[in-house]
Amino acid sequence: MHYPLRRTCKDVAHLVVAMQDRPLSLTEGAGLRLHMLICKACPKFEKQFLTLRSAMKQWRNYSGDESA
Ligand SMILES: [Zn+2]
Repeated sequence: MHYPLRRTCKDVAHLVVAMQDRPLSLTEGAGLRLHMLICKACPKFEKQFLTLRSAMKQWRNYSGDESA
Protein backbone atom coordinates (compact mmCIF):
# COMPACT_ATOMS: atom_id res chain seq x y z
CA MET A 1 0.00 0.00 0.00
CA HIS A 2 1.30 3.40 -0.94
CA TYR A 3 0.64 6.42 1.23
CA PRO A 4 0.95 9.76 -0.54
CA LEU A 5 2.81 11.35 2.39
CA ARG A 6 5.21 8.47 2.84
CA ARG A 7 8.87 9.43 2.61
CA THR A 8 12.03 7.38 2.71
CA CYS A 9 14.96 8.37 4.92
CA LYS A 10 16.78 9.49 1.80
CA ASP A 11 13.89 11.78 0.82
CA VAL A 12 13.74 13.21 4.31
CA ALA A 13 17.46 13.93 4.45
CA HIS A 14 17.11 15.70 1.12
CA LEU A 15 14.16 17.76 2.42
CA VAL A 16 16.00 18.74 5.60
CA VAL A 17 18.81 20.12 3.47
CA ALA A 18 16.47 21.69 0.91
CA MET A 19 14.37 23.54 3.48
CA GLN A 20 17.38 25.61 4.48
CA ASP A 21 17.27 27.20 1.05
CA ARG A 22 13.59 27.25 0.22
CA PRO A 23 10.25 26.84 1.99
CA LEU A 24 8.83 23.34 1.69
CA SER A 25 5.44 22.77 0.14
CA LEU A 26 2.61 21.66 2.43
CA THR A 27 2.91 18.10 1.16
CA GLU A 28 6.66 18.04 1.63
CA GLY A 29 6.43 19.51 5.12
CA ALA A 30 3.70 17.09 6.17
CA GLY A 31 5.61 14.13 4.76
CA LEU A 32 8.74 15.27 6.56
CA ARG A 33 7.04 15.66 9.95
CA LEU A 34 5.16 12.39 9.56
CA HIS A 35 8.38 10.55 8.84
CA MET A 36 10.10 12.20 11.81
CA LEU A 37 7.42 10.70 14.07
CA ILE A 38 7.99 7.13 12.92
CA CYS A 39 11.73 7.18 12.27
CA LYS A 40 14.52 7.18 14.85
CA ALA A 41 17.40 8.04 12.58
CA CYS A 42 16.03 11.10 10.78
CA PRO A 43 15.30 13.32 13.82
CA LYS A 44 18.87 12.61 14.88
CA PHE A 45 20.14 13.55 11.47
CA GLU A 46 18.09 16.75 11.47
CA LYS A 47 19.39 17.73 14.89
CA GLN A 48 23.00 17.12 13.93
CA PHE A 49 22.54 18.92 10.65
CA LEU A 50 20.97 21.98 12.30
CA THR A 51 23.68 22.07 14.98
CA LEU A 52 26.37 21.92 12.37
CA ARG A 53 24.63 24.52 10.29
CA SER A 54 24.23 27.01 13.15
CA ALA A 55 27.88 26.48 14.05
CA MET A 56 28.81 27.30 10.47
CA LYS A 57 26.58 30.36 10.55
CA GLN A 58 28.22 31.66 13.74
CA TRP A 59 31.61 31.09 12.25
CA ARG A 60 30.59 32.96 9.13
CA ASN A 61 29.20 35.87 11.16
CA TYR A 62 32.40 35.97 13.17
CA SER A 63 34.51 36.10 10.01
CA GLY A 64 32.21 38.80 8.63
CA ASP A 65 32.66 40.99 11.71
CA GLU A 66 36.38 40.66 11.51
CA SER A 67 36.63 41.75 7.91
CA ALA A 68 34.29 44.73 8.44
ZN1 LIG B 1 14.06 8.15 8.40
